[in-house]
Amino acid sequence: MKLDAKLLRYMSNDEFRVLTAVEMGSRNHEVVPTRLIAHIAKLKSGGATKILGELARNNLVARVQNAKYDGYRLTYGGYDYLALRTMSKRGAIHSVGNQIGVGKESDIYIVADEEGNQRVLKLHRLGRTSFRNIKEKRDYLRNRNAGSWLYLSRLAAMKEYAFMKVLHENGYPVPEPVDQNRHCIVMGLVDAYPLCQVHDVEDPGKLYSALMNLIVRLACAGLIHGDFNEFNLLINDRDEPILIDFPQMVSTSHRNAEMYFNRDVDCIRAFFRKRFHYESKLYPKFTRDTEREFSLDVEVAASGFTKKQQEELEKLQEELGDQSDDSGSEETDDEEASTDEDGDVETERDAATVEDELLQEVPSSDNLDISEADSQHL
Ligand code: ADP
Ligand code: MG
Repeated sequence: MKLDAKLLRYMSNDEFRVLTAVEMGSRNHEVVPTRLIAHIAKLKSGGATKILGELARNNLVARVQNAKYDGYRLTYGGYDYLALRTMSKRGAIHSVGNQIGVGKESDIYIVADEEGNQRVLKLHRLGRTSFRNIKEKRDYLRNRNAGSWLYLSRLAAMKEYAFMKVLHENGYPVPEPVDQNRHCIVMGLVDAYPLCQVHDVEDPGKLYSALMNLIVRLACAGLIHGDFNEFNLLINDRDEPILIDFPQMVSTSHRNAEMYFNRDVDCIRAFFRKRFHYESKLYPKFTRDTEREFSLDVEVAASGFTKKQQEELEKLQEELGDQSDDSGSEETDDEEASTDEDGDVETERDAATVEDELLQEVPSSDNLDISEADSQHL
């Protein structure tokens, strides 16, 4: 899934209005009826259709035909565009450089601000492979948007940003959080290598202790990383660790806290045994070593990423974990939409009914302010 940064510079206001209208409609529809898009964008339907064709050619939306009506679905390309545009207006991003990582659930790019300071852009891509499989089961999302992969990826970005902020403010070694919008976060570029690429350290015992101390320090503040491994730890030239990537972060009051904690500890022990032939009898245990001193988990909840959102995300992640069969190719997900026959969860109701409902519900999100269309772009 490529990020086409060049596109950002050449979009007309009408195109932007239509793209935003598709995003708004996606809150309630996996496939947004063309008529509805025109209505939200306040364009004549002929005009909207023409622009939708343009957007589809650029892979920002995908056309979907189904039994009840024709419509469009926002693609990751379109969602990327909207997020980048917002963050460039805020000055967090001025230019996009090389891709430095492709995870199963994220893409990572080097970006720069106007002064040329390098930063890291992380685009969350949750559910891009398997979300479609679970949509029938998601009772708890019944009143949520239909394009739930948007919601899920946004939740993941909100979570990562909220944790990074609280950890950074409290002096933990994490990247500096710069900005978050939709499914994207911008953070400081850490000048360090992932532990998985590190083969020589001066004193493995010292690094081992630093990592175990970090696990304990987090737990004393009420947090468990949950994915504390050689891929999510960057090691700088002084052999100090910087922790990244918080998709699984949980509170020490989580029902499975002990399991998560022990798994993090075991992960480091196993890695040190294998890579550095280093083994220590000393390692932290959840019950003994983790008296809580203060509560960053509570601070995170207060910072805008609520407990309810955390629970919702956990539930979805669990389900996705259960289902990750990896059968579909990640790269083709967006293209696949144009031929997707079952992509609509609203088939029970016709377009006119949903249109009425949507018009009452949708247009009041700060993310989705269509008046943005009139201001300058990148
Ligand atoms: P994923 O969720 O896909 O695992 P990560 O946040 O772990 O994504 O990032 C993947 C890779 O990108 C890391 O292993 C690291 O090499 C690089 N990376 C991520 N964030 C930064 C950063 N702030 N500074 C430098 N490199 C980074
Ligand atoms: Mg990672």
